[in-house]
Parts: sequence; C-alpha cells; structure tokens
Amino acid sequence: MLQAFEANLAWAQAADAADPLRGFRDEFLIPPHEGRDGHYFCGNSLGLQPRAVRAAIDAELDYWGELGVEGHFKGRLPWMDYHEFVRDHLAEVVGARPSEVVAMNTLGVNLHLMMVSFYRPTAERPAILIESGAFPTDRYAVESQIRFHGFDPADALIEVQADEPNGTLSMAAFERVFAEHGSRIALAMLPGIQYRTGQAFDLAAITQLARRHGCAMGFDLAHAVGNLPLALHDSGADFAIWCSYKYLNSGPGAVGGAFVHERHAQAVLPRFAGWWGHDKTTRFQMGPEFVPTAGADGWQLSNPPILALVPLRVSLEMFHRAGMSRLRQKSLQLTGYLEWLVNTQLNDTLEIVTPAEPARRGAQLSIRVRAGRERGRALFEQLMAQGIIGDWREPDVIRISPAPLYNRFADCLAFAEAVRRWADGAAG
Ligand SMILES: *Cc1c(COP(=O)(O)O)cnc(C)c1O
Repeated sequence: MLQAFEANLAWAQAADAADPLRGFRDEFLIPPHEGRDGHYFCGNSLGLQPRAVRAAIDAELDYWGELGVEGHFKGRLPWMDYHEFVRDHLAEVVGARPSEVVAMNTLGVNLHLMMVSFYRPTAERPAILIESGAFPTDRYAVESQIRFHGFDPADALIEVQADEPNGTLSMAAFERVFAEHGSRIALAMLPGIQYRTGQAFDLAAITQLARRHGCAMGFDLAHAVGNLPLALHDSGADFAIWCSYKYLNSGPGAVGGAFVHERHAQAVLPRFAGWWGHDKTTRFQMGPEFVPTAGADGWQLSNPPILALVPLRVSLEMFHRAGMSRLRQKSLQLTGYLEWLVNTQLNDTLEIVTPAEPARRGAQLSIRVRAGRERGRALFEQLMAQGIIGDWREPDVIRISPAPLYNRFADCLAFAEAVRRWADGAAG
C-alpha cells in the first residue's frame, strides 16, 4: 500500500522503486524523446513493443526458411495449432473458459461475424442498442447490418443517451432505455469501456438487464481487454470482440479476438463459415459438409497469420506472469495518482471527464482544458512536443492512459509538471 501521494520526484521515484511490477518496464521498448525515455500515455491506442517480439518473429521466419510447408507440423510451436498457443492466456485475461475465446481477424471483422450469428432481427424485434457517441466502426458496422437485413437505422438503431454531466451513463439510463425499447431490441452492443469518456461499465449488470428483456448481448472490449480484470463467462454475455494492439501490446493491426459464451458452444447458429472453423479432427478430410468446431474456434474462417500471432503470444505470456489482478492493483494506484495530481495541482487548468469512482474506469483519464477547445489543443501539442504522448479525441478531450505494465509514477508527475509549466507560461 502506498503512502499518501506527494507531488515531487522523490516520492514518485520511491513509489516506482516499491512497485512489485517495476521489472516489466524493462521488457518494453520505450519510445525515446531527445535521447531519453519519453513519457508514453498512449497504451490505450497503441501499446508498446515487448522486446521479446523480434526474436520470436525471427524464430518463425527461420522455421519457414528451414521447414517450408512442414512448419505446419514441426518446429517448437507448429503453425497448424498456433492460435491454440495463445488461448489459455487469452482466456485468463478476459475471464473466460479456454473454449470460449479465439484469437482471429481484427475487431471490425469479428464484430460483423458475431452479428451474423447474434443479430437475428424480426419485424417485431429489429433493433440494435448502442451508446450515443459510439466509436465510428461500431456504429458503421451496426448500421450496415441493420440495412443488410432490410431494416432502417432511423428506426432500428437505438442509442442510450448519456445522463450524467460529463457525458457518462448511469445504470438508470440503461434501465430506462430497456424499459422503453427492450421488446424491440434484438441485440445490445455496448462497450466495456467507452473510448472517449473512459467510463467502465458493469458488464454483468447490463447483461442481466438485456437478457431480462430477451435481447442478445455483445460487448466491444477494445479499451477493456488487458486494462480491467474481466469475467466474461460469469457476465453471461453472448459474445464479445476486441482488438489486441491497445493495452494488449500486440502491435499495429494485431490479431483481434472474440468470445462466444459456452451456452452457444454446440448450438447450430447461423454463421459465415470457413475451413478453419471446421471440426479439427476431420478438417483435412476436406468433405463438402461444414461441421463446426465446438466453441469459439468454430467461428474461424482462415488459417491464421502466424507472424501476426507471434506478438500476441509473447504479450499474453507477459500478462500471464504479471496477472490481471496485480496489474489492476497497480493501475488503481497509478491512475489514482494521476487523478490526484490533476485535482490537487492543476484544478484551475484541467477537469477530468472520466468517472471518479475507480470501479467505473480503467487506466485512462479523459481530460478537458477548462479554457476551452483551442487552449486544449494547444496544450496537447505542447505536451507531444515535449515527449509526453497522449492522444486527442474530438471535440476537446486529451486522453492520458498510464499502463501498469510499463508506466511509472514518475511519468504521471512529468505530465503534471509539463501542464503546470504550460499553464504558468500561458498565464504570464
Ligand atoms: C480501437 C477501437 C476499434 C478499432 O477497430 P479495428 O477493427 O481494430 O480497426 C473499434 N471499436 C472501438 C470501440 C475501439 O476503441
């Protein structure tokens, strides 16, 4: 347990020295700024590169060079079963049974594949529920599915509206929208963490509501996976999808993932099929009839991109060693420190959009500059120029995400000191 926060380097360095996870930082390449480590707060957008990835990719290239097609069956990790080598650790990270998860495709592709199976609209129940201000791809995907089924998004796309001052959502907002529209909703498709506000949702409580109203439940965990300990199986959600390049540190355009709840493992759900989803034991009989593998594996289309799966395997092994509960413990402290610095040292300059209750957020704080969008943009550019890397989300949000695998308390302090300098300079 940390001593009370202090806004000085001695305190931050002592906190870093006492951090049981401090060794993980050395396993990453930290982007430099002017010859020294930068302060990287963008793990919610693109996580950093684990050093071990390069040698692991080289090893697969070597197998390819030496074994050719036999690499499917030989080598330390034969390619034929490669997605299975990430499965157990992936299941740990999302709180699922191994048979409920599969690493495949990318988020957007998986979202469509899951909707093929779990968005089954009827004239009485045609609608999809999303949150207002949803991430563009989610909105585009959902609207296009509605149209694909011959319905009109003007009627069949329902948005739950933010009911709290900073654009966040209370449970009451969900209760109201299900009470009003529940009988028309075929699928509720909601985030684990909202990308702009950083709000984390209670997946089990929302799923319970959705299921009580007879709606299928899917979650987009882009910002939740590798950030919060999840309990997908227990949540009861029908499916979830995510990408792996954010907190999961698996590289730009990394292989994404999907969860399908065990209760659908044997169900003959409609799906878009491919040979890699076919029952593994008879796949190579190459028969005309598709027999799905039980569980999430049955949604695979193609033999997977081995070189792209390597960083995911390396990264998930690190998550396994660190453990989601220890990561969350550190994350609560680290983001708590950042919040404390903003609220006690920078309150005249900044305001936090993300909910203050730790249970309602992950690593990310979404921050607004009180003086408005133009000043916010100016601060953001000033921070970037100083190697303090966050990101900007229109209209006026700076997202700062200390990732517990590689960020330090000293990074949070560097952010606060840079904002202070800017505010003092701007005032003078
Ligand atoms: C990052 C993110 C995506 C990205 O989708 P890709 O298919 O991986 O490009 C989608 N939805 C949300 C909510 C995200 O945060």
